[in-house]
Amino acid sequence: MEDDDIDIHQSVAGDEEKEFETRLRPLSFIDFSGQDKIIDNLKVFVQAAKMRGDALDHVLLHGPPGLGKTTLANIISNELGVNMRITSGPVLEKPGDLAGLLTNMEPGDVLFIDEIHRLSPVIEEYLYSAMEDFRIDIILDKGPSARSIQISLNPFTLIGATTRSGLLTSPLRARFGITLHLEYYSMQVLQKIVTRSAGILQVPIDSVAAAEIAFRSRGTPRIANALLRRVRDFAQVKGNGKIEIDITKYALDALNIDKFGLDEMDNRILLCIIEKFKGGPVGLNTIATAVGEEAGTIEEVYEPFLIQEGFLKRTPRGREATEKSYRHLGKIQPGNLTLEF
Ligand code: ADP
Repeated sequence: MEDDDIDIHQSVAGDEEKEFETRLRPLSFIDFSGQDKIIDNLKVFVQAAKMRGDALDHVLLHGPPGLGKTTLANIISNELGVNMRITSGPVLEKPGDLAGLLTNMEPGDVLFIDEIHRLSPVIEEYLYSAMEDFRIDIILDKGPSARSIQISLNPFTLIGATTRSGLLTSPLRARFGITLHLEYYSMQVLQKIVTRSAGILQVPIDSVAAAEIAFRSRGTPRIANALLRRVRDFAQVKGNGKIEIDITKYALDALNIDKFGLDEMDNRILLCIIEKFKGGPVGLNTIATAVGEEAGTIEEVYEPFLIQEGFLKRTPRGREATEKSYRHLGKIQPGNLTLEF
């Protein structure tokens, strides 16, 4: 990526980006598009918990960034009619941080822990009894005078979100009654999301332009909304304010957005398989070393989209680049060379 390119695929959003996301975030099941199976199941679980007057079982949401884990956690609390406290794995450093959060929860409240795979082992230990028995044991003092006191908690729901479920320990994973995997969104659903977001932003958009933005969004609502925002800027400054197909294509090309919505790492992975390993098959760990990314991240964050879209094949001998990858990157596939005279 060139220095002056805008990293539209970034998963860590800046403040302004976050405020923009909040504006567009669906607040109820009705506004949430896609992930139909997950939503159908969640509606049942939420209704059952409400009917019994119990806290909802603990929920683990996993899937790549930007697919709606935080949004869903919000919606679940709204639909339950309870408060949600938000924290994240790396922020919880001391047991006291966790105790402070948990002891302030009302019955049935939701605690959302983002990046739950990054919890420290100590905090994770404390969570076990909190999740299972709604109590925590806090150790006071150090050395010979150390003593432990037990604090009872109100029943609560922990919602954990992770992009790397493979890094979760099995005792923690086992304590979630509900585990849901978010999938990449189809073009049709993304188009609907783009159209809804444009409505909230009060920018006119036609359906072909919405489809183009959806197509270049890597199956991800966060990227779709970010692209919409940038295209809106172009439409205002270089067009007539309306988002139509010509200005959309112009903007997306000017921003160097890949024709298929692939991001820089996607393309690096494909290019590496093609250029360094003759198109594969090549093992995951070898690819990881060559592109400088963790094997688990490639497997859980990048690869599923590349496989779904037919750029990559998983074979018993390793990963292989497909003909579509070669064409996309303008490379010639060995064996596909036809000589013309
Ligand atoms: P994650 O927590 O998985 O990284 P978020 O929940 O923060 O993703 O979603 C990122 C943005 O994408 C949010 O601002 C939200 O507006 C939008 N979004 C995500 N899923 C949906 C959806 N199903 N329908 C509409 N908008 C969505």
